[in-house]
Amino acid sequence: MRTVTLYRFRLPMEAGVILRYQRLKTRDGFLVHLQENGQQGWGEIAPLPEFSKETVEQAGEAAVAWLKQWHLGAEPDESELPSVAFGLSCALAELQGKLPEDADYRKAPLCNGDPDELIVRLSNMSGQKVAKVKVGLYEAVRDGMVVNVLLEAVPDLSLRLDANRSWSRAKADSFAKYVNPDYRHRIAFLEEPCQTPEESLAFARDTGIAIAWDESVRDEGFNVEAQAGVAAIVIKPTLIGSLARCRQLISAARNAGLEAVISSSIETSFGLTQLARIAHWLTPATIPGLDTLELIQSQLVRCWPGSTVPVTGLDELEIAWCS
Ligand SMILES: [Mg+2]
Repeated sequence: MRTVTLYRFRLPMEAGVILRYQRLKTRDGFLVHLQENGQQGWGEIAPLPEFSKETVEQAGEAAVAWLKQWHLGAEPDESELPSVAFGLSCALAELQGKLPEDADYRKAPLCNGDPDELIVRLSNMSGQKVAKVKVGLYEAVRDGMVVNVLLEAVPDLSLRLDANRSWSRAKADSFAKYVNPDYRHRIAFLEEPCQTPEESLAFARDTGIAIAWDESVRDEGFNVEAQAGVAAIVIKPTLIGSLARCRQLISAARNAGLEAVISSSIETSFGLTQLARIAHWLTPATIPGLDTLELIQSQLVRCWPGSTVPVTGLDELEIAWCS
C-alpha cells in the first residue's frame, strides 16, 4: 500500500535577493511525502528561476505524473527535470533507509561584499576555515584587494571564489594581479572566472590560481576529467538531478583527483538539511557550500540546527495532490 502527498510551498525571500537578472520575491516549490509499509520518505522539489530549465508549474506536473505511477506500484524512471528527479530520489532514499541521518552542518560562510563582517564571522569559526566570496560584481581590482585583505587578516583561511563566468580574460588578469602571489595557493579554487571554459583553463595555467567548474558541470557534453589548474567541481543537486546522478559525478571527480563540493540552489531549510546529510554521506572530507539559509524569511518544516529564523509548518501548506 503506497500513499503520496504533494505539498506546495511559497516562502518570502529576504529583500534584495537578486539572481542573474531579476529580484526573487518568493521561493516556490513542493514537498513530497511517500509512505509505504509503515516507512516514509520526504523530498523537496524547488526549481530555481533563471538557473533551472523547468518552471515550478512544469516541475509540479512532472512530479504528479511520476507519483501517479509510483502510487500504482510501479518503479518509474527518473524524471528528466533535474529538480523533480532530485526531490523524488531523496524521498525514495529516505523511504528505503538509504539516506543516513548524520549531517555536515558546517557551511562555508558567504561574503557578498563586506570583508569586515566576514572576518568577524570567521574569528568565531572553529576547525577548518573556509569561506566563499562572490567576485565579478564590482571592479576586478576591488575583488583582488578584498581577497588579499581576507587572506592577510585570517592566516589559516582558505577561500573559494566564484565569478560566475563574468570576466573577460583581461578582467580576470587584473584581478589576479592584485592577489599577492604568496597567497594564491590559499585560494582553494575560483569558480568559472571567464566567459568560456577555454579562457578559464588558460587563466588557471598562467596565474597558478586553481579553478572549479560549476555552470560547466550542467553544460551538455560535460565530462569529469583531470585538467591542469582545475581543483574541483561544484554539484548543485537541484540543478543536476537524482542522487544517483550526483553520486556518479562525485565518484568520477574522485577518480580524476578533483574535489566535489555539494552546494545549494537556495533550497529551504528542509532541502538544506537534506543536502547537509548528503554531503556528510558522500563528500565527508569537504565542507559543503550551504550558506543560503538566511536568504529566505522562513524555514520549512525541518529546521537548520541553531537557527532562529521562524518556521512554516506542514499544516500551513496547501496540498497540491494526494492519493
Ligand atoms: Mg558558482
